[in-house]
Amino acid sequence: MKIQSFLIKYAEIAVKGKNRYLFEDKLVQQIARRMKKVDGKFDVRKTAGRIYVTALTDYDYDEALDALQHVFGIVGICPMLQIEDHGFEDLSAHVVDWMKEKYGNRPLTFKVAARRARKNYPLDSSEINAKLGEAILDAFPQMKVDVHHPDVLVNIEVREDINIYTEIIKGAGGMPLGTNGRGMLLLSGGIDSPVAGYMTARRGVELDAVYFHAPPYTSERARQKVVDLAKIVARYSGPIRLHVVNFTEIQLAIYDKCPHDELTIIMRRYMMRIAEALAEQNDCQALITGESIGQVASQTMKSLTVTNEACHMLVIRPLIAFDKQDIIDISEKIGTYETSIEPYEDCCTIFVAKHPVTKPNLHAIQRSEHNLGAVIGEMAEKAVSAAETPEID
Ligand code: ATP
Ligand code: MG
Repeated sequence: MKIQSFLIKYAEIAVKGKNRYLFEDKLVQQIARRMKKVDGKFDVRKTAGRIYVTALTDYDYDEALDALQHVFGIVGICPMLQIEDHGFEDLSAHVVDWMKEKYGNRPLTFKVAARRARKNYPLDSSEINAKLGEAILDAFPQMKVDVHHPDVLVNIEVREDINIYTEIIKGAGGMPLGTNGRGMLLLSGGIDSPVAGYMTARRGVELDAVYFHAPPYTSERARQKVVDLAKIVARYSGPIRLHVVNFTEIQLAIYDKCPHDELTIIMRRYMMRIAEALAEQNDCQALITGESIGQVASQTMKSLTVTNEACHMLVIRPLIAFDKQDIIDISEKIGTYETSIEPYEDCCTIFVAKHPVTKPNLHAIQRSEHNLGAVIGEMAEKAVSAAETPEID
């Protein structure tokens, strides 16, 4: 049986009251945007507290399902049969057909769970349950009823039309994009930052990204890797404007004028400053990084404090308390891992000291930065204004 429609489940508890409409409208909008990329035509519609996606043309089921699984805000996707109400006998025949198509005559247990949103239907929900249960048992002698732990829950929703579904496929969860503003992701070629971007986007935050490269010390291939990562994240987050900042001049100046054990931390502070300037220009309300406590010298509590001091904007660090393995698990799940582990050098790794400070002193760092003179401010301004910004979709 070709599935014609999907019923979309979303977490309703999270969206009581006025926000509910905003949430639902954004979700419909995001689903429609995502389904445009799928071959075929789809109608995405909200009616009476339900969201339906209906195919209007031929389409590929797996492709459509994959698209829906990339939309934040969806907790469950139910492939369903929607029929007009032509009386109980007709409903019963459809349900038996559905069971036959989906499960053949397998020896499984089931339970019918009817809900009646339309109260003028001649049977109440427990009568529907009993009668449909009987019809299924008659048609499939191998099947049994189990009201506590059924293998298959046969959902029947009597609304204007009647929905029949037996499967709830897990969605991406979170909140629809566009319900929580926009953030600037500091995206390197590593494992962590794409995961940080994904996790923040999952809370409904749209993304811009900034990548610092240092040609000729970093290669075109390293930059392409970041573009590739942005593309994978964009499957979930929607289009990402990727600001590519040339960081070479600044890194060389720091390398020249500052104590080498402070290089990384000072470099990180300039990244934050430049990212913040770009964030302000692009309507972002926060910076997002892949930092995690203790992962490297620049991510001790002291180092993070000193890095944080360089900017004023909210910095979101979704991975702050995650173990590396947990981050890797997410990167595998979202499909960024294979790209992240490609061996192209990152701009930070080229200018790192053998023994970076793990307990930087803010005043000492500020003094070192002072030694860079006024020219560093001009370099940073130039880096911001010269940033190239391809849109990644
Ligand atoms: P990742 O796996 O994300 O590269 P990491 O463990 O290599 O993280 P660091 O190099 O210390 O960590 O960087 C910490 C964070 O700073 C990154 O997660 C990222 O958000 C940001 N960052 C580091 N390098 C760059 C860069 N070249 N361009 C943009 N952001 C960067
Ligand atoms: Mg890195």
